[in-house]
Amino acid sequence: MERMTFLNQPTISNNGIVRPTLAEINLARLTANYHAIEQHVAPAKVLAVLKANAYGHGLVEVARHMETLGAPYLGVAVLEEGILLRETGITTPILVLGGILGNQIPLFLQHDLTITASSVEKLQQIEAAAQEMGTRAKVHLKIDTGMERIGVHYYSAEELLETAVHSPHCHVEGIYSHFASSDAADLSYSHLQLERFNQVLAYYETKGLPHPPLRHLANSGGILQLPQSHFDMVRAGILLYGVYPSDEVARTVTVRPSLTWKSQVVYFKVIQPGHPVSYGSTWQSDHLVRAVTVPVGYGDGYFRRMSGRAEVIIRGKRYPVVGRICMDQIVVNIEWDSAYNGDEVILIGAAENGTRITCEDLAAWAETIPYEILTNINTRISRVYVNGLENDEEI
Ligand SMILES: *Cc1c(COP(=O)(O)O)cnc(C)c1O
Repeated sequence: MERMTFLNQPTISNNGIVRPTLAEINLARLTANYHAIEQHVAPAKVLAVLKANAYGHGLVEVARHMETLGAPYLGVAVLEEGILLRETGITTPILVLGGILGNQIPLFLQHDLTITASSVEKLQQIEAAAQEMGTRAKVHLKIDTGMERIGVHYYSAEELLETAVHSPHCHVEGIYSHFASSDAADLSYSHLQLERFNQVLAYYETKGLPHPPLRHLANSGGILQLPQSHFDMVRAGILLYGVYPSDEVARTVTVRPSLTWKSQVVYFKVIQPGHPVSYGSTWQSDHLVRAVTVPVGYGDGYFRRMSGRAEVIIRGKRYPVVGRICMDQIVVNIEWDSAYNGDEVILIGAAENGTRITCEDLAAWAETIPYEILTNINTRISRVYVNGLENDEEI
């Protein structure tokens, strides 16, 4: 495998020497995951969701990679993410999924970002701003079918659809909604949402309105479990990164994790029985143990909440993190095994012998979901990109 690029983080990396704690992103895995999703939903298209630093994988690098794969659409949550992509030369259409404020609209238009119109009033603001700037806004209408977050309610969507027809400075390119629990085993609420979305789409026929080309509803859960929700496009988030949205979801597409989080041993010592480790002295051994210190902590997104539960892999074996997780360091009990300064420590990922720690494991230890683990690996962690699969690895 060849190392490709270092994300340029001048405050962290120094003459190309990167802190030993890093996230390695495997672009070949992203490719395979993207193709697997594409194949599963065809002829529907795949919008790659890149919000929150591409689920921790690096916004700009993942966007560039998706562009080389020919992804027809990218999705981000907020305006700033879209502007950053445009400023780095990304030309693929970008849908900003979040709610907007009127004063942001000129920036959307300047950067050719597709706007989510979540109410009649917002659509009118977009129309007025586009007219004033002598341009045409790209718009997707947002219907609330049961998430109660943003969007016009499905039962009063007609006015939004009518307004769209009479907004000559808006190119209403799409219409979409969002599932609240498409990753659950019980899909009854998703079916209800699907039915409500179809009800809204039916206005186009009954009112003789021109149809927007892009209807989209499915997130990762919908991609996996609700083929009826694929419509013209799906919005693939966590699945693209090789992680399933929940434990109970049907794994109808095979994907594999594209992120490995690792560090190195920076300190080795022997701890006397009865000598407690770390803040608050919450853990001590009743016998002599060997322990190593690893430079990662909650200041990197390695949640303190995992104290007393987390494990890491050193030399192919899982060992417990002992004592409280600090801001920048953790202590690992290796009992009487050997480890040396510079040894690789896997926080998320697989060792050569197959021993593995997943972001689902970290989510369980932190009592959260894998999404929160990935998106909290913060900018202090350098991202390193590799492109290639191990010889014996099939995807
Ligand atoms: C985040 C998000 C997605 C992607 O969700 P996943 O569960 O990660 O696939 C899709 N659509 C919208 C509107 C989102 O906010």
